[in-house]
Amino acid sequence: AHAKQQERPLFFYEEKNHQDLSDEWMEMSLRKALQNKEMDVYYQPQVKTHSGEVHKVEALVRWQHPDYGVISPGVFIDAAERFGLIMPLTLQVVEKVCLQLKEWRKTAASIQRVSINLSPLHFEFVDANCQITDLVHRHGIPPEMIEWELTETSMVENLQQMAGQLLELEKEGFSIALDDFGAGVSSLTRLQELPIHTLKLDKHFMNKFPGSDKKQQVIQLMITFAELSGMEIVCEGVETKEQLDALRKMNAGFIQGYIFQHPVPASELKYSFTEGRDM
Ligand code: C2E
Ligand code: CA
Ligand code: CA
Ligand code: CA
Repeated sequence: AHAKQQERPLFFYEEKNHQDLSDEWMEMSLRKALQNKEMDVYYQPQVKTHSGEVHKVEALVRWQHPDYGVISPGVFIDAAERFGLIMPLTLQVVEKVCLQLKEWRKTAASIQRVSINLSPLHFEFVDANCQITDLVHRHGIPPEMIEWELTETSMVENLQQMAGQLLELEKEGFSIALDDFGAGVSSLTRLQELPIHTLKLDKHFMNKFPGSDKKQQVIQLMITFAELSGMEIVCEGVETKEQLDALRKMNAGFIQGYIFQHPVPASELKYSFTEGRDM
């Protein structure tokens, strides 16, 4: 059904109500953007907490609009999902990441893995995993260098089917991260049924953190849970020195947040934060 949607012509004003002009504008612009490859990828470091090294980064899509400049994904991912354009968008992101990984492998940068966000819709397309896997293979990138980030909302529908698809990806050699962990509803026992290698602690946990003892205990519990389950943990949304210090004391594995670096073009990425002034 989705494939059919994607075959629609670029302009189809006739069949739509003109009240919905902004939706129409968005759909048209998005199609054009995908045709013209206007999607760009920024990267944000996932910093190893105790050493300050950067071996992992997250890929975050940016739309380089010819007239409006850089547009954030919050503005268009939703629309891409509604208009059946999320798969071509994902593929463009994966392609860009593969090209960048080739570059990093040549220049011997320390980057060992890039994590890429997948829409919850991704898992509704039968051949979506084949498409991303083929693309990665075609670029000669070892799957070990890519981690797929998915959110809990992807998992609510059909856990069995989901587990199967994730196992496929795992068998290829990819790793899987659960994004926005703690923002949703998944139970810890359910989590253990899925091949998840990394937990990304949702940034809402950083609100008023360190703050009260209770707040700290909850985060400590998450860190311990990840550790006991053999998963890596990435704490997202870390912005202050106080948060960083508290997380260091708790032995949180990785930190991702403005305290180190905002998402940036690959050329501006920093590979280590070992000097005091960076923290
Ligand atoms: P996310 O996957 O949870 O990504 C983290 C978001 O938090 C990013 O926003 C990042 O810039 C922001 N962030 C990083 N550090 C901090 C911090 O210290 N404080 C705060 N307040 N925010 C921080 P961004 O890049 O605007 O992306 C927003 C969302 O768009 C992402 O949330 C993800 O759900 C989605 N997204 C981004 N790229 C892609 C993509 O290629 N495909 C899909 N399907 N979704 C994407
Ligand atoms: Ca993410
Ligand atoms: Ca997140
Ligand atoms: Ca999110």
